[in-house]
Amino acid sequence: MKTLNLDTLTAAFADIETITDPVQVAKLSQDYHTFSPVLVPKLAGKVGDIVVRPANEAEVIRVAATCAKYRVPVTVRGAGTGNYGQCVPLHGGVILDMTKMHEILWVKPAVARVEAGVKLAALDKKAREIGWEMRMAPSTYRTATIGGFIAGGSGGIGSIQYGLLGDRGNILGLRVVTLEEEPQIIELRGDDVQKVNHAWGINGIITQLELPLAPAYPWAEVIVTFDDFMTAAKFGYALGNADGMIKKLISVFASPIPRYFHPLQQYITEGTHPALLMVAEPNLESLPGLVQRYGGQITYQKPAQDTGKGTHLAEFTWNHTTLHARTVDTSITYLQSMFPPDSSLQLVEHMYRHFGAEVMMHLEFFRVGGAVIPGALQLVRYTTEERLNEIIRYHEAQGVTIANPHTYIIEDGGRKVIDPEQLKFKEMVDPYGLMNPGKSKVLEFNIHK
Ligand SMILES: Cc1cc2nc3c(=O)[nH]c(=O)nc-3n(C[C@H](O)[C@H](O)[C@H](O)COP(=O)(O)OP(=O)(O)OC[C@H]3O[C@@H](n4cnc5c(N)ncnc54)[C@H](O)[C@@H]3O)c2cc1C
Repeated sequence: MKTLNLDTLTAAFADIETITDPVQVAKLSQDYHTFSPVLVPKLAGKVGDIVVRPANEAEVIRVAATCAKYRVPVTVRGAGTGNYGQCVPLHGGVILDMTKMHEILWVKPAVARVEAGVKLAALDKKAREIGWEMRMAPSTYRTATIGGFIAGGSGGIGSIQYGLLGDRGNILGLRVVTLEEEPQIIELRGDDVQKVNHAWGINGIITQLELPLAPAYPWAEVIVTFDDFMTAAKFGYALGNADGMIKKLISVFASPIPRYFHPLQQYITEGTHPALLMVAEPNLESLPGLVQRYGGQITYQKPAQDTGKGTHLAEFTWNHTTLHARTVDTSITYLQSMFPPDSSLQLVEHMYRHFGAEVMMHLEFFRVGGAVIPGALQLVRYTTEERLNEIIRYHEAQGVTIANPHTYIIEDGGRKVIDPEQLKFKEMVDPYGLMNPGKSKVLEFNIHK
């Protein structure tokens, strides 16, 4: 990297909004890697030099050209809710905050096009006006941006119906700006969108996205409790496979996790194991039959007309579960796992019994390759990094896939290896290796050239 001169940069950005106040810059250099006691010390003190907030694509192009010219690292940022330090700049430079680019360009039946900084909840609201909604959203849908979700997330509420973001068809188009002295604008469609999906901001600056929408259902929210965890898990799996029932969320928690859900205490008797559900309202009539078969009890039901009022169950699920637990006990951390499809849920039961109170089971059911599988974001009572790694290795040895949230290296997390197509694309869109440098093992760290 050439010597960074802030004055040169700010002069080059001229009328583009910038932030240089060190406190603000430090704040905007953070994300939610704080859920990991392993990442916190590794990322301590890593901050950008300046935050730049483009209002449109023309400004993004100017920032990209300037950063390429002066070989300045660029960390693109949405809302900064990522969990792996994806938004933390390892080598300073520009934090490119995309939140001012929040225009919903158009919404048609079944498809929408947005700027990257649009919040998921904003698109959902707009789409609902014409009877459609987002296919899936993370539990951070109120704050997270769509660009950040595609570049950093994987799936969430809705994935039980539509699979994960990486599944063919869940992203229709992406427009990226390259990090070159003369930046290009590239529109990716079809399978090419995978070159940027979950690439952690190393493969071009996403300025626009085109996403498929789902028919909007009236969603009822339900809590069902069970005396036995494995029965609750089997109920979740059965509901996941009940193809006639449209659902958006099936989350199952082993006691004592519900203790961390303060607003839900009155609906979850101490010692019971709840399933938190979002089910299409017309299917509610079919739910009690299945609940009875598994000996559960419906303790809470919120009709769709009350959506938006009071507590929203989705905000206790996915990684919000970890958030609630950590609000009470900061020594708790988490894992991200995918169990193999198996109707007997044997491996889930094995892990549940093997680790007991040390690894509390939190299941999220979703579809992978057409099959319902139990994913898990287990809560771990953290002691040491060695013990955490031992727990991870034990899971992997038994056939559980772990997307390790305690690393900021893409290949050591969920990806394991970077897709060669992504690497080829990287060479083209970021020839100087300036985008989020240091986050991939295979990429030559060549910002000195
Ligand atoms: C409590 C909690 C719950 C969560 N639940 C879920 C969940 O259910 N499912 C899930 O998948 N994730 C979840 N996450 C992780 C995260 O919230 C989501 O992935 C979210 O969609 C990220 O959006 P963001 O705008 O905050 O992205 P950021 O954190 O700002 O960015 C994420 C990554 O994308 C890159 N990026 C951002 N914008 C662009 C752009 N325009 N162009 C190129 N690269 C870009 C960044 O460089 C970074 O690498 C959760 C996190 C927390 C803290």
